[in-house]
Amino acid sequence: MFHVKQFISYDVIVIGAGHAGVEAATMASRLGAKTALITFKKDDIGTLSCNPAMGGLGKGHLIREIDAMGGLIGNASDLSGIQFRVLNRTRGTAVQGPRAQIDRLQYKENMYQLINNENIDIIFDEVIDVTLETKNNLKRINSVRLSEKGKIICKSLIVTTGTFLKGRIHQGKENWSAGRMGANPSIKLANFFKDQKFKMLRLKTGTPPRLSSNSIDYNKCMIQYGDKKPEPFSFLRESIEKDQIACHITQTNARTHKIINDNLKNSPIFDGSVKSRGPRYCPSVEDKVFKFNSKDNHQIFLEPETLNNEVTYPNGISTSLPIKTQQEFLRTIRGLEKVEVLRFGYSIEYDCVDSIEIDQTFQTKKIEGLYLAGQINGTTGYEEAAAQGLLSGINAVLGINKKEGFVISRSQGYLGVLSSDLTKGGLIEPYRMFTSRAEYRILLRADNADERLTDLGIKLGTVEDKRKAKWLSKKKVMAKAYKKLNELYASPQEYNRFQIKINQDGKKRSAYEVLGYPDTTWDKLKLKWPQLNELNLNKTIERQIKSNSFYNRYTHRQEMEIEELKKDQTLKIRDDVNYQNCKGLSNEVKEVLEKHKPNNIKEARLLPGMTPAAANILLRFVKK
Ligand SMILES: Cc1cc2nc3c(=O)[nH]c(=O)nc-3n(C[C@H](O)[C@H](O)[C@H](O)COP(=O)(O)OP(=O)(O)OC[C@H]3O[C@@H](n4cnc5c(N)ncnc54)[C@H](O)[C@@H]3O)c2cc1C
Repeated sequence: MFHVKQFISYDVIVIGAGHAGVEAATMASRLGAKTALITFKKDDIGTLSCNPAMGGLGKGHLIREIDAMGGLIGNASDLSGIQFRVLNRTRGTAVQGPRAQIDRLQYKENMYQLINNENIDIIFDEVIDVTLETKNNLKRINSVRLSEKGKIICKSLIVTTGTFLKGRIHQGKENWSAGRMGANPSIKLANFFKDQKFKMLRLKTGTPPRLSSNSIDYNKCMIQYGDKKPEPFSFLRESIEKDQIACHITQTNARTHKIINDNLKNSPIFDGSVKSRGPRYCPSVEDKVFKFNSKDNHQIFLEPETLNNEVTYPNGISTSLPIKTQQEFLRTIRGLEKVEVLRFGYSIEYDCVDSIEIDQTFQTKKIEGLYLAGQINGTTGYEEAAAQGLLSGINAVLGINKKEGFVISRSQGYLGVLSSDLTKGGLIEPYRMFTSRAEYRILLRADNADERLTDLGIKLGTVEDKRKAKWLSKKKVMAKAYKKLNELYASPQEYNRFQIKINQDGKKRSAYEVLGYPDTTWDKLKLKWPQLNELNLNKTIERQIKSNSFYNRYTHRQEMEIEELKKDQTLKIRDDVNYQNCKGLSNEVKEVLEKHKPNNIKEARLLPGMTPAAANILLRFVKK
């Protein structure tokens, strides 16, 4: 804990103890930097501002990658998870995303314990200014000024202030200054960015009301259980032993929609008070009712906020309608006829820095030693914030030590996809991760994040001893298994005798290659080759090796597609092309293309927000 008189200078200071801040401080301290984490109050540490859930498609991949590098989010989620579910379980492992409902109180407590175990000084105060120095015409960080504790010198500063910069909450016709509900905004620090002429954006996000669980009639709702055998996020763990609870599902109806429609004029989103854009994929319920007016209902997931289920988060009805309207429309919903609202929904507008201002190490291009991570860079989501925290924390220390920056490539991880997409700039709305953003997604699976990244973390020094030992032992077991599987060859007829069906082309294939066929199970393969039993692999490793073999067959095709994209740069795009017919492109990218009308693929690739994955899809569409 911090004693102000003892320490007045740090290597790295991190402002904000949300999801980016805790990872940034942890990484900086693991790399040996004297690190301070400054945040308003203890309660901020690991606060889930919106939904009590972690992971999902793309986001779950990020958690596994952060965990593989030694980050905290996976571990804290496992310790606090109350319902685990792997999304898309029936589809290929590349698009499966681990997700969990989280007990928000336990999460905060667990995160506090985890960062307390690191060598970090935690300071509770507001940072109100940043002081710079100029050397050789280059601006660099010198210190921060705190509201109560005065000036603290630092070599690097990481700003992770989330939605707090000039935050303004809207609820019906009311609006007021705040960082999120119940928290002061960060006004003075926002002025620093303005004074330094950073290109700023104004974005918005929203949250639903919180309901008293006792007032919900769950008998009228559909029940949704988690997985029977919960799968942990963290590679440190084999299983989850904690109690799990169910979620419920209900939906809006014509009566709900009528009330919302009648009151659209009172919504700040519709009356023009809120001008900024929110995340397209988390629209407010008033947006849904207005835009999709042919839909009779919208699903609502009733998610418990804690294990003892006192508060329910109704996922799917984020709103900033007036309190009275919220109360009224909620009571039209099945199961919510007598609902008591504990806190009403709202939307918040906030300043963020255009991510064109940072490079791929998350350092600002204008000021040496100043790093930005999390929602301040225009992203949305805990996982996206944590990912940037991890990378900025590592780079802040490498920067101090005058070492080359650490950048993960797009083919190594979603972490690389995120940093490369972001630094292209040109965000038109909050950025969130999807598997479709990654052109190498069959390589970037949640299950193989440790194979892709833990060695990198060990080399850097971000990985804890326990994880290092666990991974090195797993790596040894896997190497032995790959070797053995690649030594064993048989003809299709021989495989056929063990119910392993492959092309009867007479070509001998290795056990590793054959394992990748969808119908080949480890059990069948072990009957053919009993010596595989001696490998003593656990189920997780067996699954991981099978997935690697399966996707190995597609990797070559994926690489060819990427080469094809490079060759076909000059391919002309017709003027009358209708991007709405291009399946697989996100609406965000369609909007960019419609706005800029590129003449050819090269021009399209250079557009803001255009990812290589999207360019590939566009290329195939244009060719067709
Ligand atoms: C109302 C609302 C709705 C949201 N809805 C969604 C959603 O639907 N889906 C989704 O994925 N994400 C949503 N989010 C976003 C999600 O909460 C953030 O993306 C995530 O928390 C960002 O993490 P962060 O670390 O960047 O910032 P935060 O978690 O916001 O943490 C910021 C930290 O900075 C501290 N801080 C700020 N200024 C100062 C200062 N001057 N001095 C000291 N400390 C300071 C704060 O105290 C806080 O600890 C929502 C957020 C809000 C507020």
